[in-house]
Amino acid sequence: MKIHEYQAKEILKQYNVPVQDGIAIKDISEFDNAIQQLQQRGINQFVVKSQIHAGGRGKGKIYNPGNRDELILEGGVKFTTSVDKAKEYARKMLGNLLVTHQTGTEGKIVRTLFITEGLDYKKEFYLGILLDRAVSKNVIMASTEGGVEIEKVAAETPEKIIKEWIDPVVGLQPFQARKLAFSLGLDGEAFKNFIKFIPQLYKAYVETDASLLEINPLVITNDNKIVALDAKVNIDDNALYRHKDFEGMRDFNEEDPLEIEASKYNLNYIKLEGNVGCMVNGAGLAMATMDIIKLAGGEPANFLDVGGGANKTTVANGFKIILSDHNVKAILINIFGGIVRCDRVAQGVIDAASQIRINVPVVVRLEGTNAQEAGILLQNSGLNFVVAGSLKDAAEKVTSVLKK
Ligand code: GDP
Ligand code: MG
Repeated sequence: MKIHEYQAKEILKQYNVPVQDGIAIKDISEFDNAIQQLQQRGINQFVVKSQIHAGGRGKGKIYNPGNRDELILEGGVKFTTSVDKAKEYARKMLGNLLVTHQTGTEGKIVRTLFITEGLDYKKEFYLGILLDRAVSKNVIMASTEGGVEIEKVAAETPEKIIKEWIDPVVGLQPFQARKLAFSLGLDGEAFKNFIKFIPQLYKAYVETDASLLEINPLVITNDNKIVALDAKVNIDDNALYRHKDFEGMRDFNEEDPLEIEASKYNLNYIKLEGNVGCMVNGAGLAMATMDIIKLAGGEPANFLDVGGGANKTTVANGFKIILSDHNVKAILINIFGGIVRCDRVAQGVIDAASQIRINVPVVVRLEGTNAQEAGILLQNSGLNFVVAGSLKDAAEKVTSVLKK
């Protein structure tokens, strides 16, 4: 689960990770109150920050969602010492479309702003914590090349990324924090503050079950404090059950509407770019189906695991979700009947297909118990199914119907 910067900073604050003071607003009517509160805390320079689930906001552009040719503002993150300017930025961001290199051309509507204290600083660094699956250890990555796209640094100057792997048994050791600090060229107060900062950040990463914690940039202020200027935290979905307090942080506006719809039906659906809709039982078979479609020269439009009990209702829901994606030009149903018999599944497919208007060719491959009976049911259904035998045959049939 992705969360917004302001939510990530709320969490970090609980772990004593220094972040700027700030207030999130959803409507311009809340602006004056937010600024007044910040002013009362002695703050007189501000950053207005668009909250979307994508990075690169600072270099992004704000457009009118009704007319994408109309550029409203350069930058989705704006620093200012003027309250009037801050309000003008807030007005221009809220409700409009922010396009960054991470959102793609479609961009994202800004629905929340984070109004924060504006800091002066002398240096920016990159800091990230994630799991290095290859060695089954968490890795802390740091770089003096902060503020810029870290992917670019990794590709062009990988030696500028310092890595420190954490042994899961002994945890983060003080010498590792010192090593990172030395590598970044820190000394004096900044060094001391950094070696306090790192264990706090690491604790936050571990205890929130984050799959990624990225601070870009991490800054050294003029008085040598270390502050997380930006924060990106992804929480491992598999651990959400033990973080009930994070539930409210999920922002459905930021998620793919089809994926939300599918989760309501208990279907595991992930939208992809291709045009062959897939309906499969079991995640492994779904992956194999996608692979073989590609091998046959097609492009899967989605991953969809309908689970073990592929009955009329789940198949009908699967059809609805697949067909809501207008890129879909053909559907491949690949179901293995083990405990659930193929003839039952076939009847489910027939019932669902007679309920829903399907205007693309459907290739069905049922294998397992009573596969033959299932084939006969499909052939005699009066519906326009293409019945396939092997997995390879199914993939070839679905890619060839596309060419017609
Ligand atoms: P991102 O572009 O989505 O990664 O958003 P960031 O939160 O990293 O902000 C973008 C950029 O805005 C930063 O890299 C800084 O250059 C600038 N910025 C953000 N907050 C401040 C601040 O408090 N003071 C100053 N001087 N610049 C800031
Ligand atoms: Mg950033």
